[in-house]
Amino acid sequence: MHTIIENIGLQFGPGAAWLLTSTMIFLRYAIPASLVFWLVYKWKRKEWFAWKIQQRFPKASQIRQELRYSLLTSLLFGGMALGVFFLRKMGYGQLYFDVSEHGWGYWFLSLALLIAAHDTYFYWMHRLMHHPKLYRRFHLVHHQSTNPTPYTSFSFHPLESVLEFAIIPLLTLLMPVHAAAFFLFTLWSIVFNVLGHTGYEISPSGFTRHPFFKWLNTPTHHNMHHHQARFNYSLYFNFWDRVMHTNHPDYDAFFETVVERAGKKQGPQQPVPLQKRASKVAAVVGLLLLCNVSASGQMTLDDIKSGNYGTPTYRTQQVDSLMRSGLGLRDDQIPKVHDINLRYAQRTETEVVKPDLSDWTRYRRLMKIQQEKDKELEAVLTATQFEKYATKRDELLWKGVKDFFF
Ligand SMILES: [Zn+2]
Ligand SMILES: [Zn+2]
Repeated sequence: MHTIIENIGLQFGPGAAWLLTSTMIFLRYAIPASLVFWLVYKWKRKEWFAWKIQQRFPKASQIRQELRYSLLTSLLFGGMALGVFFLRKMGYGQLYFDVSEHGWGYWFLSLALLIAAHDTYFYWMHRLMHHPKLYRRFHLVHHQSTNPTPYTSFSFHPLESVLEFAIIPLLTLLMPVHAAAFFLFTLWSIVFNVLGHTGYEISPSGFTRHPFFKWLNTPTHHNMHHHQARFNYSLYFNFWDRVMHTNHPDYDAFFETVVERAGKKQGPQQPVPLQKRASKVAAVVGLLLLCNVSASGQMTLDDIKSGNYGTPTYRTQQVDSLMRSGLGLRDDQIPKVHDINLRYAQRTETEVVKPDLSDWTRYRRLMKIQQEKDKELEAVLTATQFEKYATKRDELLWKGVKDFFF
């Protein structure tokens, strides 16, 4: 492999070597991703719908964006891989080709070390990218796929690509790695990532509570991360999330719900009734957002279901007082937050509270409004306050989904 790159580089220049490397990196991701995509999003789309974690399919625009960013990621990975290659030429890096140099024991140990080190690096790097100061610039692109597909696994902003890749030279500089062990490691990484983003759960019931298997992440685990970014940061193993208490509190329960639904699958007609249920949920969740219902019991879910959710001014008062006490707002923040709450409550009133809208339209509009409102709040609140606010909002949202969906 290295000699091919070298020969191409010598004959056609570094540009050709870079293109070749990038193409190979792209194909190694795109072939398995496309196979899985074709299987579950095309061929078995209807039959296997019950196994779909989120009971809807992503928009074509999301998939197009994933492909565009994946191409960019492959070009960057290709460039960086060439960099590593040249470093090796200059004597840096400990890639070796003869197993007898360190023996088979070390060969297996190094493979395990590569995987464990990558798992650890990814968890902490990922949490860092979720810091409000870095999130938008580094990690937002990956999270724009809220309903991930196999193609999401390479869909990164260029800055995130650099961070994702950085561990590779680091590992090969620090420890001797046999070329085949390295190849297997990258293959494992790609396969795990593609499956983790597939959007389908295939593990059996009890998997997340099993004394051994609970340490392995499931597609549901990462799917929840894409859906609700505040939990489930880990990559291969459910180790760091357990140690750092960042697993979603409802991970086990939600996993069982997904698996149970798949078990009860009744045939290809399943999508229709579920879609209906989903739209009902969407309406309730939307209304939860609309009212920013609190745990204080001021307004119950029954109130919302019966359409009893008060005027924008009333809702603003409720949210204002909750945020003031719950987030410990400073005096200078109170009027700004009030202004945001009021404006969005009014906007919701004019754009969403209309009887002739479908539930889905209402839900989509609410999500959009909520996202814009979050952006404004993020600018006014401190990072800690915003984190607290977002966690609470996710909790409520999640509770709403759980209560009504399942
Ligand atoms: Zn992801
Ligand atoms: Zn993330």
